[in-house]
Amino acid sequence: MAEQKRDYYEVLGVDKNADEEAIKKAYRALAKKYHPDMNPGDKNAEAKFKEASEAYAVLSDSQKRAQYDQFGHAAFEQGGGGSGFGGFDFNSMDFGDIFGDLFGDMFGGGRRSSRTGPMKGANLRTSVNVTFEEAVFGCSKEIELTLKDECGKCRGTGAKPGTSPVTCTKCGGKGQIVYTQQSLFGTVQNVQPCPDCSGTGKVIRDKCPDCYGSGYIAHKKKIEITIPAGIDNGQCVRIREKGEPGRNGGPRGDLLVEVRVSRHPIFQRRDYDIFSTAPISYAQAALGGEVLIDTLDGKIANTIKPGTQTDTRIRLKGKGVPSLQNKNVRGDHYVTLVVQVPTGLTQSARELLKQFDEITGDSLNYVKKHSEEASSDMKGKGGKKKKGLFS
Ligand SMILES: [Zn+2]
Ligand SMILES: [Zn+2]
Repeated sequence: MAEQKRDYYEVLGVDKNADEEAIKKAYRALAKKYHPDMNPGDKNAEAKFKEASEAYAVLSDSQKRAQYDQFGHAAFEQGGGGSGFGGFDFNSMDFGDIFGDLFGDMFGGGRRSSRTGPMKGANLRTSVNVTFEEAVFGCSKEIELTLKDECGKCRGTGAKPGTSPVTCTKCGGKGQIVYTQQSLFGTVQNVQPCPDCSGTGKVIRDKCPDCYGSGYIAHKKKIEITIPAGIDNGQCVRIREKGEPGRNGGPRGDLLVEVRVSRHPIFQRRDYDIFSTAPISYAQAALGGEVLIDTLDGKIANTIKPGTQTDTRIRLKGKGVPSLQNKNVRGDHYVTLVVQVPTGLTQSARELLKQFDEITGDSLNYVKKHSEEASSDMKGKGGKKKKGLFS
């Protein structure tokens, strides 16, 4: 699991800013060179091919690429089991899908999906809603979903007990049909799954009465999901082998749960940092001292300097969101202090403020003087620079 992996950009030999086309081109060249069909029995070529395919799978998908750029390989290797958070699982990835898109019939046979060997089931996708705090600190959620299980009566064959599926006559049991077409480039062979048997090579004559020939029975199931601390809106949790059942003894697919995080009334999140504003009174701003600030960990006291101006930003180190890689490492919390100008003053408060202004003197005098000067000296000749509140 913890083996050293090469950087995906390095693997493909492309620049970090390479566009989709460049990535595709680089991969195409590598895949051609190392494709197992071109290098039968060459383990080294196979490894290179796999490495390039993995890099391409990530970098060709803008969402995965963004995750990779942000978290590196860790984006896809989290947890490795236990917690259920596995990001993307390359061992079970269907590289055939990529070649289908990329090469088409380049290798002469189209997709070589063998429908007779064990095949992993399809992945299922669902989503779960969590609160802002649940995403930050992690939680577990129970979700209910409909899962297919192998039918007990026919043991997944879909055939009525006592009967068995028969070989498809259309494809002769191959599961594929080859169409030959003339094109600009000559004769092109196009291989498609057989429509009669959906590529299985077998047809069920007498259907199982329990599953109506599908081989599966759907059940509602409750599944407990562990949401790792630090997950962000839109990220996925992978739960292994909770997807569609496999075929021919293959493992189940995985369940991919997209996490939807609700907004927080005061906190905003950017990666692992938290941003918020906190009101402070005029007196607190002027005098300094302790102010209570709302954080993810509750209210904490923070000392501000006398004469703190409005929009001053303070950083609360390590009070942000835990990192997905290591929940003991946390981002920071940035708080913008906003000085509140009092409104609805009582008579005595007004008096005190006036007194205060008289005592602090200069600024008030300046305002008075300035407005007198301004009215008597409209041409603005008295160009002496004044120091004061409005300079
Ligand atoms: Zn059945
Ligand atoms: Zn068939």
